[in-house]
Amino acid sequence: MTASEIFPVPAELAASAHVNAARYQELYDRSLSDPEGYWGEVGQRLDWIKPYTEVKSTSFSGDVKIRWYEDGTLNVSANCLDRHLATRGDQVAILWEPDSPETPHRAITYREMHGEVCRLANVLKARGVKRGDRVTIYLPMIPEAAYAMLACARIGAVHSVVFGGFSPEALAGRIEDCGSACVITSDEGLRGGKPVPLKANADQALSTHAATAHVHTVLVVRHTGGKVEMTPGRDVWYDEECAKVAADCPPEEMSAEDPLFILYTSGSTGKPKGVLHSSGGYLVYAALTHELVFDYRPGEVYWCTADVGWVTGHSYIVYGPLANGATSLMFEGVPTYPDASRFWQAIDKHQVNIFYTAPTAIRALMREGDSPVTSTSRASLRLLGSVGEPINPEAWLWYHRVVGDGRCPIVDTWWQTETGGILISPLPGAMALKPGSATKPFFGIKPVIVDAEGVPLEGEAEGNLCIAESWPGQMRTIYGDHKRFVETYFSTYKGMYFTGDGCRRDADGYYWITGRVDDVVNVSGHRMGTAEVESALVAHPKVAEAAVVGYPHDIKGQGIYAYVTLMEGEEGSDALRAELAKWVRQEIGPIAVPDLLQFAPGLPKTRSGKIMRRILRKIAENDYANLGDISTLADPAVVQSLIDNRQNR
Ligand code: ATP
Ligand code: MG
Repeated sequence: MTASEIFPVPAELAASAHVNAARYQELYDRSLSDPEGYWGEVGQRLDWIKPYTEVKSTSFSGDVKIRWYEDGTLNVSANCLDRHLATRGDQVAILWEPDSPETPHRAITYREMHGEVCRLANVLKARGVKRGDRVTIYLPMIPEAAYAMLACARIGAVHSVVFGGFSPEALAGRIEDCGSACVITSDEGLRGGKPVPLKANADQALSTHAATAHVHTVLVVRHTGGKVEMTPGRDVWYDEECAKVAADCPPEEMSAEDPLFILYTSGSTGKPKGVLHSSGGYLVYAALTHELVFDYRPGEVYWCTADVGWVTGHSYIVYGPLANGATSLMFEGVPTYPDASRFWQAIDKHQVNIFYTAPTAIRALMREGDSPVTSTSRASLRLLGSVGEPINPEAWLWYHRVVGDGRCPIVDTWWQTETGGILISPLPGAMALKPGSATKPFFGIKPVIVDAEGVPLEGEAEGNLCIAESWPGQMRTIYGDHKRFVETYFSTYKGMYFTGDGCRRDADGYYWITGRVDDVVNVSGHRMGTAEVESALVAHPKVAEAAVVGYPHDIKGQGIYAYVTLMEGEEGSDALRAELAKWVRQEIGPIAVPDLLQFAPGLPKTRSGKIMRRILRKIAENDYANLGDISTLADPAVVQSLIDNRQNR
């Protein structure tokens, strides 16, 4: 099996999937030629309180205005819960798998969840939280995180979920930025057997940052039972407050364009942005993409391993699946605790049909060899997914062959916090797969590849990826900073949304994300996505992970600097350096051979597991003073160790 192999749609899937190849083409063409008609029909999948008559009013120029289903009203939590009660009230909505396999799991039905969300909504109201107020959610991966999101939606409050792994400073900054009135947290989180002091972090954020003085309520979920301080008047226990209120709370009638949530980007390219999403358009898009990209069918168990602190957790653990009446598995723990079989054992335990994870997890597990996977059955699996970074063909093939036993298609889904949902991805019944390609655009999505001057390129091409037309799930603004919104996304190339990603379109019209535009290097006049060089390195049997950046080179303009993490048990040496150089030469060509190669036991990653190449670039450039915002880094100690071992020219 080689990376250039094409994996056709399995015949059974072509016949049974929601969308097959012919239907894709027909609907895709229609979605572009008649967006009003297409999205007008698709919007009907939600329950509207007042039906919309205007579908689309969008402009990517001037002040940039994006409005979908503008005159319709709805409530997002009613769409995720209430409307399922008659048909599937007793079906499991959230299947919760705890950090330790020894702890009992929980199965919460739609009816139970409805009661929980209503109670919490009433608690928020009793504490004075009103429509339009911001609520910061700082919770571990427990069902209460989903309840909290939906309780906000129920009363029209805007949630801002902050990943539970973030520091007090990062939390304070996010509370301050959106001016939230209320924080929902828990005594502690639990990850890989270790407690995370969430309440203590929240206390520290609130006591040391004057700008957070507007927080009047901290609601604390009892999770581990760990001891915490409670500030009288401000801090209240979640369970005690919920016991005082009714289990019924009428949903607030919201306009489609009322904000649903703010979510900060992961910060891999700079200071995080407070991305603001709408209610109606966002939910239409999250629900539709969830159903079609994962080919979700009623009754199936679907598992997305993302944290609710990331957009993937918002759209594909909570909103999309629940709007579709799915059973969504939520996992508290980490892939390697108690051992590297954890994911696969949980798949067997809950008979998971659809599994969606990130390349960083796949590469980490691949490093442990096949046996932790092959010791499990995974017979229930039907479809696999990937998101977050380009997936190297090597990791794709391993995921397909070992995890999926060669029978499960992989949907490599390209999208961003800003896009609200998946924009480029296979529909598994419609597209043949090429390892490493996100394949084709979703309905209504019009990708345009432009050169550095902004000239659109036709046919086979490589350049910067823009999107020419709006789609309902698109972000509406950066919270409190519309100017930065317009500047960041709509000023580089006039009239188009600029993604910041580089991309190649091949002869079959397939899209290959080559990484951030900033990560494209120009070696002696040859433009190269660093992802390509990384994939070649990772394809070597001794290499587990690689990150490649450019650095100023006197002769070539830019040189290639590679950071390489080896497989468990391998040692770095000059001989291996030479071997890897030879390998890259064979795989891509002499132009791609790294000028400098550093063996690195760890790479700097965001909390969501993305490699922060901008830091690696600074190290390669010998510019340690300007590392920029590293507040979202998972392990800051990695940076010093990389600096200490930097390769010299
Ligand atoms: P920031 O914008 O603050 O730098 P970020 O871009 O890492 O943070 P996200 O919105 O979580 O924050 O990530 C979106 C980016 O992740 C995309 O722009 C792309 O670079 C990368 N990405 C996501 N999915 C894929 C995929 N399937 N293939 C390739 N790249 C992907
Ligand atoms: Mg980004």
